[in-house]
Amino acid sequence: MTLDELGWTPEFQDHLQALEMPDLIPARVVRQDPYSYFVMTGMATVMAELGGRFRPGGADEQDRPAVGDWVALQPHEEGDAALIHALLPRRGGFARQRAGSVTGAQVVAANIDIVYIVMGLDADFNLRRLERYLALCWTSAAEPVVLLNKADLSDDPAARKTEVEAVALGVDIHTLSAKQGDGFEAVEGYLEAGRTVAFIGSSGAGKSTMVNRLLGAEAMAVGAVRADDSKGRHTTTHRELFVLPGRGIVIDTPGMRELQMWGDEDSLRGAFADIEDLAQTCKFRDCAHESEPGCAVLGAVESGALDEGRFHSYLKLKGELAH
Ligand code: GDP
Ligand code: ZN
Repeated sequence: MTLDELGWTPEFQDHLQALEMPDLIPARVVRQDPYSYFVMTGMATVMAELGGRFRPGGADEQDRPAVGDWVALQPHEEGDAALIHALLPRRGGFARQRAGSVTGAQVVAANIDIVYIVMGLDADFNLRRLERYLALCWTSAAEPVVLLNKADLSDDPAARKTEVEAVALGVDIHTLSAKQGDGFEAVEGYLEAGRTVAFIGSSGAGKSTMVNRLLGAEAMAVGAVRADDSKGRHTTTHRELFVLPGRGIVIDTPGMRELQMWGDEDSLRGAFADIEDLAQTCKFRDCAHESEPGCAVLGAVESGALDEGRFHSYLKLKGELAH
């Protein structure tokens, strides 16, 4: 497998070179356990440990690698685990509040290009929840794609799709039945070598069914990682990042799935930090960004610096919060 097929880009290459440590090699995190990591180098999947700077009190302690991250790896000597020397800057990540912590979020998956938001056309259908998922995607730098699943259970999938179009402006929306396979080619259409996709949505919406369809029986069989620890024991563990050679990369971590709990008011405000920042420079302190002169937010929409669909999401959610 080539590094490109794993999602490596010239941008990451620049970050690696900037470290000026020619002995380090790139690797992508495929699984994170409390005390160890599994990383893929393109040639092999190896077990790795965090270098000293990630230890408690170390400079990078807060910013530990997550599944999907690219790291600079010190390849292992005979009998030692490989060492994660540095985390390469992310293109974006999905975070949740760190358990029992008041400071900061824990990144659960990083460097995702496409996020499929899966919603069932049964009792799961909920436009407000969908908006929260969309806001989450905007903060992550991943492109959302809405998958309205279980079309077979709906009287009028086309009408539901129209409702979704009104809240998911500028976002691709597909109706399908993952169980039967009808419409599933739309999901496959986003796959591309080197591109990373992931799924979010309520429990029972059909994510596993879709992941299994994408991976197929073969990929599932090779999904386990064989780890050779320093004592020579072999352990088998499950990957959370899967490469479909020539077709892309699928991230399926428990952490991504737990993000369904996300969505309190604070995180909503956090989701639109870019707009809140712009609003600081509006001429009027209490600018509502409707038609005021000197509105920096409207100016950014005008110039294309701020996506119009995103701006509408923001206004809508803000209106909701005002109630
Ligand atoms: P997850 O919790 O999001 O991973 O959901 P699952 O993939 O486990 O699916 C939950 C249940 O919904 C399972 O019983 C699936 O067989 C069923 N399911 C998934 N997709 C469809 C679909 O398109 N139509 C119907 N009728 N059932 C589906
Ligand atoms: Zn304004």
